[in-house]
Amino acid sequence: MKYYSTNHQAPDADLRDAIIKGLAPDKGLYMPERLPQLPADFFERMDRLSFQEIAGEVAVNLLGEDVPEATLRNIVADALNFDIPVVPVADRIHAMELFHGPTLAFKDVGARFMARLLRHFIGEDEGEQKTINVLVATSGDTGSAVANGFLGVEGIHVYVLYPNGKVSPLQEMQFTTLGRNITAIAVDGTFDDCQALVKSAFMDDELQRGMKLTSANSINLGRLIPQSFYYFYAYAQMKRMTDQLVICVPSGNFGNLAAGLMAWKMGLPIRRFIAANNRNDVFYQYLQTGGYHPRPSIATIANAMDVGAPSNFARIQALFDGDINQIRALISGATYSDDEICQTIRKVYETNRYLLDPHGACAYLALEEQLMDGEHGVFLETAHPAKFNDTIARVIGRQPIIPDRLQAFMNGMKQTVQMENDFSTFKSFLLNRR
Ligand SMILES: *Cc1c(COP(=O)(O)O)cnc(C)c1O
Repeated sequence: MKYYSTNHQAPDADLRDAIIKGLAPDKGLYMPERLPQLPADFFERMDRLSFQEIAGEVAVNLLGEDVPEATLRNIVADALNFDIPVVPVADRIHAMELFHGPTLAFKDVGARFMARLLRHFIGEDEGEQKTINVLVATSGDTGSAVANGFLGVEGIHVYVLYPNGKVSPLQEMQFTTLGRNITAIAVDGTFDDCQALVKSAFMDDELQRGMKLTSANSINLGRLIPQSFYYFYAYAQMKRMTDQLVICVPSGNFGNLAAGLMAWKMGLPIRRFIAANNRNDVFYQYLQTGGYHPRPSIATIANAMDVGAPSNFARIQALFDGDINQIRALISGATYSDDEICQTIRKVYETNRYLLDPHGACAYLALEEQLMDGEHGVFLETAHPAKFNDTIARVIGRQPIIPDRLQAFMNGMKQTVQMENDFSTFKSFLLNRR
């Protein structure tokens, strides 16, 4: 299978290059040149299959030309070793709980799969220098998912750069207590400074010659592809109940929605999608007006969706040849204020005894407002509410119960490297660690 760049100014890549490079040389995002239709009998029997069986089947159909089937099945078994249950919340509304992985957020799915796929590809390079260095800048959630996803994966070292003192203690403990092949670097600066240091490293010839560098940010196709698997699994779990399924995705960078649309293109009979935004609503405005106008992000309580220029917008355009009419026919939008998010968390907790996180709450509310007669809705519950315990405590008047595996991070020992916001310091640090 060939992978093209959404900017169409770079040569096609194979899967290996698309994963190792992340971003195409023309700064476009890689997309598969075609999305294979899954066989009809797969859809017929899928309600009897496990998540791993479904994921394996989709992976083999999509990636089977580039990776041996047995390897793909092993990667799926190893990376996706937790369930993603769909549970009832309200009348005709279900939650797809994506928080049963190690860092309690859906980003575990992409990070764990990508780590093992990258490991497979570097293992093929006989005689080459083996260690690949993954650089990732984080304001919280990405760092924890990537660090935990790559933890203990042989041949890969991860450097997580984060703004010192500007990440919540719970998030910080999720990537600073791991040790082994994970190094956490606390930078004296902002998230943007961290990102600038990573970008400079990728552009530095001496570093590029001296060590193999790659990124694991959300534009990497290796993180996106596995996210399509759980749409199939959600459909399978709902299949006996309805053939009018609406899926609502709380969206920031729009990777999650792009993955759902890829599943739809592979033949998954989802009736339509809703993209739920917080006040960072450039996609909502695009659907309303036809104009796409990125703007600086604003801070909200659903902070993983505080994105003003969603990077995967280019992928959504590519899937529909830039035709807004096709996009509008399949996807509707929604946008909510912090107040509306809080009211929803409170109401659903009191009425339905289900505790939403702020991101899932946006998506729940969009379903409640937009679901039509005869339709059933599934919203993506992208993180465990306990990850946002301050907000939740303010809204419902008590602390959420912290799951053991989240608490375990708090009991770990924090190990970080303090660093000034200076590229030459960062560069010599990396070169000395080779
Ligand atoms: C990253 C994230 C999102 C947004 O997902 P995108 O793929 O960027 O649209 C939503 N909710 C949570 C909890 C997240 O961590």
